[in-house]
Amino acid sequence: MRYGPEDALVTPRFAGVRTFMRLPHVRTTENVDFAVVGIPFDTGATFRVGARFGPSAIRNASVLLRPYNPAHRLAIFERLSGVDYGDLPVVPGNTEASYGLITEGLRPLVAAGVVPIALGGDHSITLAELRAVHAALGPVALVQFDSHPDTWDSYWGQRYTHGTPFLRACEEGLLDAARSAQVGLRGSGYGPDDHEAPRRLGFDVLTADDVRRLGLEVVVQRIRRRVGPGPAFVSFDVDFLDPVYAPGTGTPEVGGFSTADALVLLRGLAGLDIVAADVVEVLPALDPAEVTALAAATVAYELISLLALGPRRRKP
Ligand code: MN
Ligand code: MN
Repeated sequence: MRYGPEDALVTPRFAGVRTFMRLPHVRTTENVDFAVVGIPFDTGATFRVGARFGPSAIRNASVLLRPYNPAHRLAIFERLSGVDYGDLPVVPGNTEASYGLITEGLRPLVAAGVVPIALGGDHSITLAELRAVHAALGPVALVQFDSHPDTWDSYWGQRYTHGTPFLRACEEGLLDAARSAQVGLRGSGYGPDDHEAPRRLGFDVLTADDVRRLGLEVVVQRIRRRVGPGPAFVSFDVDFLDPVYAPGTGTPEVGGFSTADALVLLRGLAGLDIVAADVVEVLPALDPAEVTALAAATVAYELISLLALGPRRRKP
């Protein structure tokens, strides 16, 4: 049995209980290629909070998405079986307890070869996701779209926040930094070390200015060469997008990218071996017209499309 979305020509897309793309809500790893997983946790946020409501907002926006992706000439569910796994349990106010639950929640998926597509939640959750991925697969490449490096050491003495996951991930040996890239960094900073710290960790750091100077196609080729054929984790922080395109987020930075730019970059990753991915930092309370949630849902959709085109999931 394969899992796919409800047929919108049988029941209209606005009908029914909200799951991602109207996929069946099934907690199984059997005959499943990918599982959309909500992680409604925002205690790691250092500025505006409310991303705990991100998963439900993204699911709500996602019912608009159709199963054929014309950019890849891809009928997604002819290649992939996917479910909405529901939300993982978290402990509001306790990041480390939540990390334990997130990692344990994802481990059976990754161990079974199911690709988790996580919906955040703030960016702190990615550390817990990477722990689960590492337990099954060892160190992976990171492709991070973000206006921030998230490699700071601590905030107010707290080592687990949405500004620190990728330093922690490197310290824990979860990432293959030599195959990793951060794309879109910009905004005011604390000092010159903000963008030097990820470079010292071994990441290829492409600032927003770099991306504009090089152009999207060159950036795509650079990421692809960097990551190579091994396993990769794609983490998309919606503040990669300009606040015009993603106003509903915790730490917006002007001078960012359009949703059209993001689609070009994501589609350019076709063929990479994506073993897990997430879309984080959607804050629905500050999202007029649900524009950020729609952007995030579409990013998740493009990530799912990439799974169908990657080496791991390609079906004969
Ligand atoms: Mn981030
Ligand atoms: Mn960010």
